[in-house]
Amino acid sequence: MAGIYIHVPFCKQACHYCDFHFSTSLKHKQPMVEALKREIAMRSEDLDQNVENIYFGGGTPSLLESDEVHSIIDKVYDHFQVIDEPEITLEANPDDLHTDKLKELVATPVNRLSIGIQSFLDRDLKLMNRSHNAKQAMEVLENAKRYFDNISADLIYGIPGLSDQELKANIHRLVKLEIPHISAYALTIEPNTALSNFIKKGIVADVDDEQAERQFHLLTDELKENGFDHYEFSNHGKPGFFSRNNIGYWTGRPYIGIGPAAHSFSTDTRSWNISNNIKYIKSIRSGKRPFESERLLKVDRYNEHIMTRLRTKWGIDMNEIEEKFGVNYTNHLIEECSELLEENLISMDKNKVYITKKGKFLSDGIASRLFLLNLDHTSN
Ligand code: SF4
Repeated sequence: MAGIYIHVPFCKQACHYCDFHFSTSLKHKQPMVEALKREIAMRSEDLDQNVENIYFGGGTPSLLESDEVHSIIDKVYDHFQVIDEPEITLEANPDDLHTDKLKELVATPVNRLSIGIQSFLDRDLKLMNRSHNAKQAMEVLENAKRYFDNISADLIYGIPGLSDQELKANIHRLVKLEIPHISAYALTIEPNTALSNFIKKGIVADVDDEQAERQFHLLTDELKENGFDHYEFSNHGKPGFFSRNNIGYWTGRPYIGIGPAAHSFSTDTRSWNISNNIKYIKSIRSGKRPFESERLLKVDRYNEHIMTRLRTKWGIDMNEIEEKFGVNYTNHLIEECSELLEENLISMDKNKVYITKKGKFLSDGIASRLFLLNLDHTSN
């Protein structure tokens, strides 16, 4: 099975923390849609597996007209083998999801919405320069539920000034609304964003790592108590509502990324399209996909495997490591695990390695302690 990611590189306004690729000018939206469809057609040979999910990310895909979304999905069906009942997700911002838009979207093959709520507090939304307010966040979820069963909401924790009580109230609103999937992210300060500038100038307080870690655990515990399964570091789902897109990504399934800045991955190759809308459109028009790629050595694939699997509730399977990478890698892993076991950061059960509650917030750092250094660049 494989996935298709479609990057829609437009936003109404720039959120202060964001370093994704997008433009706030919609001038090239129509030629971009044409280019996305053309890239889909150009890449029909790039996947030899059935497509189980299509994911519109961005940017803000809800800025597309519903018929544009529909025509892109049709193009995927024209050029790839799509399974029956695929998961088709559209990321949406609350201010775009008025009733007419919801009615139109539910008439397309889109069957899952991922809504960028982030917080139900106007103070937080203003600090982050989100394009919606708290009232819209509340209303949109109630309304979206009339049209879609499968809804995910994004939440941000670790926001300067966000108290634990306020975060709890945000979580409980989502629980009360019976939203079945929540993706939660710590506010991180990326270089060259407006937020990093405000912090440097002392206009906004810096993020506090202790607050982020405490709120990560608070969120995980609250959601667990309310029937959510913490199946990946940032993702919590009710049974039957785990995202196929997320599971695919964190378990090393191949995917192709369409659109500017979109990444693609297959067993031993990673590639990424140019992060420039105009250059992307021009190149696709001339029949050439503008991308760079790298071949992943065996040691890179092993390190990536460790990092992605450790973030999930399914953990690292030693048998799979041996099968994919060989006995030397398994021995290395067993050796490196001993210290982490003593520190109670990981646990082992029936040939599987899991992150513990104590280690969860630190999973990427812990994974790096299990990495193998790439000493021999000639190995494949
Ligand atoms: S809407 Fe999303 S992609 Fe656009 S600026 Fe905000 S966080 Fe970034």
